[in-house]
Amino acid sequence: MSSAASTMDSTRAKDAAPKKVHIADEPMTRHNWYKQINWLNVTLIILVPLYGIIQSFWVPLQWKTGVWAFTYYFLTGLGITAGYHRLWSHSSYSACLPLRIFLAAMGGGAVEGSIRWWSRDHRAHHRYTDTEKDPYSVRKGFIYSHIGWMILKQNPKRIGRTDISDLNDDPVVVWQHRNYIKTVVVMGMVFPCMVCGLGWGDWFGGFIYAGLLRIFVVQQATFCINSLAHWIGEQPFDDRNSPRDHAITALATLGEGYHNFHHEFPSDYRNAIQWYQYDPTKWTIWIWKQLGLAYDLKEFRSNEIEKGRLQQLQKKLDQKRQTLDWGTPIEQLPVVDWDDYQAEAKDGRALIAVAGVIHDVTDFIKDHPGGKALITMGIGKDATAIFNGGVYNHSNAAHNLLSTMRVGVLRGGSEVEIWKRSAQMENSKPFFVDSAGQKILRAGSQVTRIVEPVSSADAA
Ligand SMILES: [Zn+2]
Ligand SMILES: [Zn+2]
Repeated sequence: MSSAASTMDSTRAKDAAPKKVHIADEPMTRHNWYKQINWLNVTLIILVPLYGIIQSFWVPLQWKTGVWAFTYYFLTGLGITAGYHRLWSHSSYSACLPLRIFLAAMGGGAVEGSIRWWSRDHRAHHRYTDTEKDPYSVRKGFIYSHIGWMILKQNPKRIGRTDISDLNDDPVVVWQHRNYIKTVVVMGMVFPCMVCGLGWGDWFGGFIYAGLLRIFVVQQATFCINSLAHWIGEQPFDDRNSPRDHAITALATLGEGYHNFHHEFPSDYRNAIQWYQYDPTKWTIWIWKQLGLAYDLKEFRSNEIEKGRLQQLQKKLDQKRQTLDWGTPIEQLPVVDWDDYQAEAKDGRALIAVAGVIHDVTDFIKDHPGGKALITMGIGKDATAIFNGGVYNHSNAAHNLLSTMRVGVLRGGSEVEIWKRSAQMENSKPFFVDSAGQKILRAGSQVTRIVEPVSSADAA
């Protein structure tokens, strides 16, 4: 059967026009591995930084060069976070032309591809998070999402489609895309080297530290947005996908570490919403606004943000609720006649009826905080009034504990008027279920709780 099918397949393959299989879709072998590698990227993100690291063993680091390298790391990092990411990928604010030119230049100096290419992939990442169409899906592994997706060739047809017409309308984006290699050489290497050379004569130190090593650090830092931010941390807004919030990721990525928030509210110019959380990208955009360079800063209403947070909390509550013992649901309990209830209690089973629900307290008598005598007093009786204030007005915790001992419900009758009343009340109140369909019992709403303590005289 299978050989026939494969013969048919090969015949069909011969008939059809030879369709070229993209190299990324072929299995990697000893003979074709070098074809699967994206050598331009390997040069820009591995070989060039590696050369810088090796040179740094011999080239002395001058403190002025060190300060400039750190400053330029921050500026080129901002080119990616404030420029490539929050401005161009997500339009979370608008920037005047000089600021856009500055961000395009700085982002180019980070050597992570053109704005157009970066933003297209990033939009696909948001639209198809964690799926096959996510260009750097963390489901393919931490290393893949960090760097593997750039080192290996990708079949562009497999990446999810996104609309980038707005980017094609931005002359700054188009110019930078057309002149990308020039931008990389000038902003990534020549410019940082010239600052050190013309400033204090440290040409080669500038090239190695502010150029190559700085490129390495800023690349690895921003790659963490795709890997680390989908790997470690909390998920306060949605836990269906991988994005997470973590302060360490924020430290490494100029504030992009609040990634669970970011995937929920991508067009918000903030990633961190609390003042004490580290988001220098947000602070810088805000300063640009004060200077008149940036405008239309977008923020989601805190009402929407808190709604999302609350719903995720409810989901967590539901999961927690399901791990607890709430007693057998009332509707699943057997219905018992009053006479049978009393007969069984006389037979030695410690049964107590409260509000029409029968509880087996045999194993609890010795632990009763009010002593053995008072609890035995209720055996075989309607203890509704006794339990609800006639003798002792029991706590919510006591009602909760009692519910775990319930074994049956009494059939309606004169002795259990109260049960009928509470059952009616329960039906008239809308009751709410959690995501697993389990009834949500709030404090004080156990069926055994009678709102106004009934005196024993009334119940008699
Ligand atoms: Zn992401
Ligand atoms: Zn994003």
